[in-house]
Amino acid sequence: MAERAWNFSAGPAVLPERVLRQAQQDLWDLDGTGIGICEHSHRGAAFDRVIAEAEEDCRRVGNIPDSYRVLFLQGGASLQFAMVPANFLGEDQTADYLVTGAWSQKAIKEAALYGTAHTAASSQEENFSYIPKGSAIGYSDSPVYVHMTSNNTIFGTQYRAEPDIPDGAFLVCDASSDIFSRPIDVTKYGLIYAGAQKNLGPSGTVLVIVREDLLERSARSLPTMLRYQVHAEKGSRYNTPNTFGIYLMGQVFKWILAEGGLAKMQERNERKARLIYDVIDEGDFYRGTARAEDRSLMNIPFRLPSEDLEKKFLSEAGEHRMSGLKGHRSVGGIRASIYNAFPEEGCRVLADFMRDFARRNG
Ligand SMILES: *Cc1c(COP(=O)(O)O)cnc(C)c1O
Repeated sequence: MAERAWNFSAGPAVLPERVLRQAQQDLWDLDGTGIGICEHSHRGAAFDRVIAEAEEDCRRVGNIPDSYRVLFLQGGASLQFAMVPANFLGEDQTADYLVTGAWSQKAIKEAALYGTAHTAASSQEENFSYIPKGSAIGYSDSPVYVHMTSNNTIFGTQYRAEPDIPDGAFLVCDASSDIFSRPIDVTKYGLIYAGAQKNLGPSGTVLVIVREDLLERSARSLPTMLRYQVHAEKGSRYNTPNTFGIYLMGQVFKWILAEGGLAKMQERNERKARLIYDVIDEGDFYRGTARAEDRSLMNIPFRLPSEDLEKKFLSEAGEHRMSGLKGHRSVGGIRASIYNAFPEEGCRVLADFMRDFARRNG
């Protein structure tokens, strides 16, 4: 079998080795049942246990209070862009969006289909290189909710703290690319959603954490599959869910707990990111594209002095088994995505390579 690469992909992204090895076994035979995880009925005893443990472990990881529901849905984060306003934003109401990148732009576009979508702040004029704060935010009079993107996967910016929001509104967060990368105070949010393929598991599945009282609200009549309340009542099994996705997320939650929980994740993520930011900051060969105070611990975009050097960098990195480093076209250059499961050793390998490359080409 091929040696594993240092996979810097922005998503789908690297998963913990221990989780993948367990999944190899469980694909063949789950808990001595003689049936693999993908072959079990979603209503049988074996899967009952899988989904119950996934929820319980998720609650332990995120310290999620009983007043919140944990849902495992489908359609990725992108369906949440629409489900949030479909469920909560009435035609005559306003929702406020903090537009900090391409994913926020997609989210606000869906909201506009249902009600008034107000741009409370945007960093677009500087190609989303920073997080607008304080007086840069102008809320509408009485928004139903405020929507934020906690980590901007493409532009490499991340909120350090939740923004203050107007009384009466609740905070909605797209946490797809930094969920459970650091401790989180769930009680500050009405709803958190995260596509799984960056920090939690396979693509297509999405974790939703929603305050129970919000489920009563209903902005309009909706198709059954689009209503949070239905998924909550049916324990995420109104229809056949992505059983393997839920299983794998459950294994990732167990891994996070075994590693020491979210405080440990944050410690390690800070160490990992520092290895790379230090190289960027120690000379003028590399240039980070995000404002230093808003830098992400998950995605590190940077440029080299020329596009030719960037091409050469990518090609040589590939020869050293480093993959997925090409930046998104809207930023260009290089992007290193180093989610929870990305090994610290791989960050050291990249940092050493960057120093060596700068020496040879600077
Ligand atoms: C990747 C990503 C998405 C899109 O997720 P899908 O599962 O492809 O819908 C949305 N928001 C953020 C912040 C992301 O990083």
